[in-house]
Amino acid sequence: MSEIRKHYFLSEYCIIAEERGKRPSDFVSREEEQKKQVSTCVFCAGNEAKTPPASAGYKNGTLYFEEKAKRVQGWEIRCFPNLFPALSPSSAPLFPSGSLVVFPPVSPELALTQLAISGFGFHEVIVESPVHGKELEAFSDKELRLLMQVYRDRVAYYLEQDKIRSVSLFKNYGKAAGASLEHAHSQLLALPLLSPLLEREIQEIQNLNFCPYCSVFEKESRSERLILKNRDCIAFAPFCSKVPFEVWILPKKHVWSLEACSDALLFSLGTLLRALVLKYRQKLGGPAYNLFFQILKAPEYHLSLRLLPRLSLAAGFELNTGIYINSVSPEKAASYLRKK
Ligand SMILES: [Zn+2]
Ligand SMILES: [Zn+2]
Repeated sequence: MSEIRKHYFLSEYCIIAEERGKRPSDFVSREEEQKKQVSTCVFCAGNEAKTPPASAGYKNGTLYFEEKAKRVQGWEIRCFPNLFPALSPSSAPLFPSGSLVVFPPVSPELALTQLAISGFGFHEVIVESPVHGKELEAFSDKELRLLMQVYRDRVAYYLEQDKIRSVSLFKNYGKAAGASLEHAHSQLLALPLLSPLLEREIQEIQNLNFCPYCSVFEKESRSERLILKNRDCIAFAPFCSKVPFEVWILPKKHVWSLEACSDALLFSLGTLLRALVLKYRQKLGGPAYNLFFQILKAPEYHLSLRLLPRLSLAAGFELNTGIYINSVSPEKAASYLRKK
């Protein structure tokens, strides 16, 4: 029997329809990994000149910046503007300083007009390691700590910029998840607006007189969907999982953004992330996945990190309705990922 499930507090649905006889192990990814020549990889140490100057680099854990021709060697993490940005700060002068970037309101005359504003924003690449092929699951504690701190620093930096309202920090791992280069990297887009998803979510949260994610933490830290936990965070398969083996990592403390996280909390979050990615590798054959944080300036928001393996395709029904058919229940997915 299939089941239509509702999101914890949003009007979002999924259909859990387990295919009879199909086991979680049937999802083991068989994606061929193509190891590229390091010499041609623009993200590798030694090839810094093939990318824009670093907007932020970290060497011996210390922040540095680069200008035009200058390039620093021996870095641990390197951030720079995306060469093919989806959004660019050069559009900024079109908007008066301090004002928000907004679409004009719809009027009868405008209703049939196609509205567009210039593509203002920031698009940055975060190269997570100088070493080609080194992935998150193989990071030392020191490397993980730095990566999480860089995430926090870059998000805080962009959230402070004039007219920026939200930041999407994400990682695409594997071709099926949209990665065009295999060298470990994350990306960040700073937007002059809230995505419709985030706008709806924050409105729902503001309509409640409690934080739904604090409640979700209470519930899922004791549920059969719990996968891993440590002192500060839990990792679980959400009740309304869109795709097989979807995982959310949720801090216990109500923190609205990465910048509100202490070093200790960041590291706790990072260790669960690393453990989960390792589980994906060991139990599912290292499938392509997306991971992301959504960040906006709102103290009511409760930070979470989401992981979506790309083991199934969003097809006609999903695109038509926004309702996902998931053939592995989160209960089964959690039990499979929990196993040693
Ligand atoms: Zn490389
Ligand atoms: Zn909360």
